[in-house]
Amino acid sequence: MIRVEHLTKRYGDFTAVNDLSFEIEEGHVYGFLGPNGAGKSTTMNIMTGCLSASEGHVRIEGYDIFEEPDRAKKRMGYLPEQPPLYMNETPLEYLKFVGEAKGVKGRELHRQIESVISQTRLEDVKDRLISNLSKGYRQRVGIAQALLGNPGVIILDEPTVGLDPIQIIEIRDLIKQLGQEHTVILSSHILSEVQTICEKVLIIDKGKLVAFDKPENLEKLLMASNAVSFIAEAENDEIKEVLEEIEAVADWQMKKQENGSVRVDVKIESGEASDVCRHIFFAFAKREKALLELTSKKANLEDVFLELTESGVDKASVDKDGKTDKPDTEPTENNDVEWMERQVDNR
Ligand code: ADP
Ligand code: MG
Repeated sequence: MIRVEHLTKRYGDFTAVNDLSFEIEEGHVYGFLGPNGAGKSTTMNIMTGCLSASEGHVRIEGYDIFEEPDRAKKRMGYLPEQPPLYMNETPLEYLKFVGEAKGVKGRELHRQIESVISQTRLEDVKDRLISNLSKGYRQRVGIAQALLGNPGVIILDEPTVGLDPIQIIEIRDLIKQLGQEHTVILSSHILSEVQTICEKVLIIDKGKLVAFDKPENLEKLLMASNAVSFIAEAENDEIKEVLEEIEAVADWQMKKQENGSVRVDVKIESGEASDVCRHIFFAFAKREKALLELTSKKANLEDVFLELTESGVDKASVDKDGKTDKPDTEPTENNDVEWMERQVDNR
C-alpha cells in the first residue's frame, strides 16, 4: 500500500536519507526506530508530501506523492513532530478548520469531528482553548486532526515525546486502538515503545535502513549474543569437558578467581540460554562440583538496536579490557545491505 523506493534526501553535502527502500502493508502498526538525527522525520515529511526528495519515489496506493500529491495525501493523516496547532482556538474550532482544509464539508464534517473527538477522548476539553490544554491533550488534538478525512494510513512522528508516563500510556493505548482500523506508522527513539506497540520495526541509522522485521525476529537475529555466565569450584579440564558436551555452546572464556573457583562466560550459538543453564547445573551436580553462580542473558531489542546502529558499534565491540572485537558480520559504511541480507539468510 505504501512503497518507498530509493529515497534520498540531501541538504547540501549532507545526506539525511540515503537510498531508503521499503514497503508498508495494510493494517499493521509499523515503527520507525532510530537515534536522534537518523532521518526519521525527514523520511516521514517526504512520505507525506511536506518535503521534496532529492531522489526516489513514494507511492501511496499507487499514487505518486510528487506527481499526484492531492490523491496521495488524501490517503494519509499526519501528525508531525511539532503538531501544527493554533493555540488561540478550541479543539472544536481547530478540527473544523482542518476538516474543511481537507475538503470535508457540512454534515459529513460534523459527523467526522464527533467521531474523532470520541476516538481521541477529547469530549471534556473540546471547547477549551488549545493553549490551556496539557501536552497530552494537545497531542490528542494532533492525532484527531490526522484522523479527519478518514485516511487509511496514519503517520505519527514521535507521538509520545514530552509526555508524562500516564499520558504516554494513554497515547500508546490510543495508537493500538487506531491500529485496528488503520495502517499506523509511528517513529520513536524508544525501543520499549516500539517493542510494545508495533508489529513491524524499521531500524534507521544515518539515513539508512539497517533492519526491517518483527520485533521477535530482530531478537532472534541476535540469538548469537545470548550468553550464560557461571562460577564453578572445578578444574579447567572438567569445565571444558562439561561445555564440550553442549552443542549450543559456541565459545567460552575462563578466569581463575582469587578463592580458587573459576568464572566462565559462555557464548551461545543457537537455542535457549535456559537449556544451557539446565545442562550446566546437572553436569556439575553429577560431578559433585559446586556452582556458586549461574546466570543467563537473553538478547532483547535493545541489543539488536545497539548492534545494528553505529552508536552501538563502539559500545558493543569494545570489551572490558578495551580491546575491539569486531565480529565479521558487523555493518560498515559500504556493506550495510550485504550485511543485512546475510543476517536475513542466517535466520
Ligand atoms: P530524526 O527525526 O531521526 O531525529 P531528522 O530527519 O530530523 O532525524 O534529521 C536527519 C538529519 O538531517 C539530522 O542530522 C538533521 O540535523 C539533518 N537535517 C534535518 N533537516 C535539515 C535541514 N533543513 N537542513 C540541514 N540539515 C537538516
Ligand atoms: Mg525526528
